[in-house]
Amino acid sequence: MNYVKVTKEGTENRIILVRIGEIALKGLNRSTFEKNLYRNLKEKLKDLGNPDIHWSQSRFYIVPVSLPFDYAAAMDAASSVFGVVSSSLAIACKSDFEEIKAIAIKAAAEKIEALRKAGVQGTIKFKVETRRGIKSFPMTSPEISAELGGVLLDEFGELTVDVNNPDFILYCEVREESFVYTDIAKAKGGMPIGSNGKACLLLSGGIDSPVAGYMVSKRGVKICAVHFFSYPYTSERAKEKVLELAKIMSNYCGEIKVMVVPYTEVQLAIHEHCRDELGTVIMRRSMMRIAETLARKNGCAALVTGESIGQVASQTMQAMYCTDAAANMPVFRPLIAMDKVDVIAIAREIGTFDTSTLPYEDCCTVFTPKHPKTRPSLEEVIEEESKYDYERLESEAVEGTEVFTCG
Ligand code: ATP
Ligand code: MG
Repeated sequence: MNYVKVTKEGTENRIILVRIGEIALKGLNRSTFEKNLYRNLKEKLKDLGNPDIHWSQSRFYIVPVSLPFDYAAAMDAASSVFGVVSSSLAIACKSDFEEIKAIAIKAAAEKIEALRKAGVQGTIKFKVETRRGIKSFPMTSPEISAELGGVLLDEFGELTVDVNNPDFILYCEVREESFVYTDIAKAKGGMPIGSNGKACLLLSGGIDSPVAGYMVSKRGVKICAVHFFSYPYTSERAKEKVLELAKIMSNYCGEIKVMVVPYTEVQLAIHEHCRDELGTVIMRRSMMRIAETLARKNGCAALVTGESIGQVASQTMQAMYCTDAAANMPVFRPLIAMDKVDVIAIAREIGTFDTSTLPYEDCCTVFTPKHPKTRPSLEEVIEEESKYDYERLESEAVEGTEVFTCG
């Protein structure tokens, strides 16, 4: 894509500079990555004045088409798009040193005001960091930094240079056009959704599965979700909770199709016909088969769960082996080696925690065996499973699936 100028005569030329990740990507991968990211950014920003998005040399520039423009909201929105590593609110100008000086003074004045508001008193320490991306510019990076540092010291009596421990850094980038900014906001990283296919998340109302879905989605995978619903053992409110979780996840994952599977009959049959101590693992195998059927219908290449080793009886290695043996597609468990506290930290960060901890029951907790077998063998599980007509019950459950779109 050719470089499109972001500066316009007669405007303030404030833009958002967006840095993208996975710099190791090469060739075709790189352009797919950039195209997906462009599309996802465009979609995310369309309700915020639908700004232009320019794309050049592994950078995106968000340029408002009209003012006023909510820069803070646009920064937040851009930061939640997977593939974005960080962003900065910058002022742009022509790559002309007089113009660069003027925007450096403006950016520094704003930063000083912000620091004062935040309670910083006395002398303010700063340094200038320059990156020159075009060799045709007549000054080197250190020369630009030194000159700009001098300009700012002359302009603001309250400033002093401290390269080791500055209160702020004035960043100057000299490319086809130049950019000055003082802050870099970290974003989520990962890869743009759409770069790595589609997977189907088994979404309960708990803390773990939304985080698992978020993590896989962060690797560029489009997510759809299956929820097993055991009415009247689980209430309508439990279903609403799951839809709400999907809606929160959609802030990052994009629109999520949620398939709610009526699961009561399956659970009752397992409860009635199978040995109690194997009930959970048999139920998990049936969930896998149903999820796989729905996943294939939706073009997914894998299943995702929120399991982690040893968390509960059904999450021992032996139990997960039995569960996986029921599926004919990969089952991804991104939380497999994570501690609960770390999962909770992510749940809080992405905003699902408070909804996940609302006290509505999950279908897994209905008919939970008193003493589940932690080391079931696949042979005994398969034998026990043959005692109920799971094929018929599962295909009826698939038939009865309700579909919702969240986001
Ligand atoms: P979570 O916090 O995600 O509910 P958990 O620690 O409660 O997980 P389990 O209840 O054993 O663990 O569930 C393990 C995984 O199985 C969940 O992370 C989820 O992927 C899937 N799962 C459990 N219950 C359901 C359900 N009702 N619908 C869809 N998937 C489910
Ligand atoms: Mg659960």
